[in-house]
Amino acid sequence: MKTFIYKLRPTSAQLARLSETLEICRRLYNHALAERKKAWAEDGKSISFAHQSANLPALKQQWLALQHVHSQVLSNTLRRVDGAFRAFFRRVKAGKKPGYPRFRGRGWYDSFTYPQWGNGVRLEGRRLILSKIGAIRLHNDRPFVGTPKQCTIVRKADGWYAHVVCQTEPLPLPPTGKAVGIDVGLESFATLSNGKQIPNPRYYRVAERKLKKAHRRLSRRMKGSNRYRKARDLLARAYLKVKRARLDFAHKTARALVNEYDRIVTERLNIQGMLRNHPLAKSIVDAGWGLFLKILRAKAESAGRIVIEINPGGTSQNCSQCGEYVPKRLSTRWHSCPYCGCQMHRDQNAALNILQKGGGTAFGEALPLGEPKNRESRTR
Ligand SMILES: [Zn+2]
Repeated sequence: MKTFIYKLRPTSAQLARLSETLEICRRLYNHALAERKKAWAEDGKSISFAHQSANLPALKQQWLALQHVHSQVLSNTLRRVDGAFRAFFRRVKAGKKPGYPRFRGRGWYDSFTYPQWGNGVRLEGRRLILSKIGAIRLHNDRPFVGTPKQCTIVRKADGWYAHVVCQTEPLPLPPTGKAVGIDVGLESFATLSNGKQIPNPRYYRVAERKLKKAHRRLSRRMKGSNRYRKARDLLARAYLKVKRARLDFAHKTARALVNEYDRIVTERLNIQGMLRNHPLAKSIVDAGWGLFLKILRAKAESAGRIVIEINPGGTSQNCSQCGEYVPKRLSTRWHSCPYCGCQMHRDQNAALNILQKGGGTAFGEALPLGEPKNRESRTR
């Protein structure tokens, strides 16, 4: 599944309908949530999606505004409530402390979905035809690839977007016979086992000043005023910019790696844990490793490449050439092995260990698939 994003250019009449649709969906969401809450509190019963869905036609008779929204969009809204409850019960079962599904205030509900392409939503030239809303012009007409399945209309800080989810056939790339290990770090975004470094994107730091300024501006303004709303929108736009830059960086970096390597080995990261424990947490957030790894896996899968995640134990302390234990502090940036004389950047040494743990040789060729060479790593 791949998502293609189109910016919409609605007329002012269409804009009003988009906002109205979103507002009706938000109210339906809250209504369905309240119904479930009430049934549970009063009779200890839980209401199903099927039940709420079957009641929709009757509800439409009393609540006429619902008739302004395509029925599948309404049905999808009920499905979202169902999803929120399922997630809630899953977490209860797992012994976690979940928050009860929440009512959504204005501004906390920002999308609605046509769950079935061709049913209330289709593309005609450069226009997206949305049932009950109109034929909306698109900013760009980059064609999508694959079979469209559903379409979600999203309100963002700088306008409205259509997210078209398509089912794509995997496009396997010809094998290159090469493998790579990746060490993600703080000094650079990542170091490859061949010694190449991918520098950290600094967009967040650059944008940080702007964000701070936008925050300050907002705090000086009176809540509820027009000036406050304006400042709030500017802040939201600044965040959106950072988010897009991060996504773009992750896509480009992952694309380059997938094109070049058959087998890509990374560490299994405990990002939440790292954020809690690390003084440099901010840099970690900046780097967006989690997002990058997610995109890398998706691209690899569609290209017929393999991503292996290994347990990072020992990868930074052991020598990648002789396997001896060479302890070093985090501040020691150079790996200098007293046993075999190997000299290299500590991150490259780690990347080589990662590569070897995931079944590549130190020279970067891939071993035949399915036989990761699980070298015993020596740890104390
Ligand atoms: Zn050594």
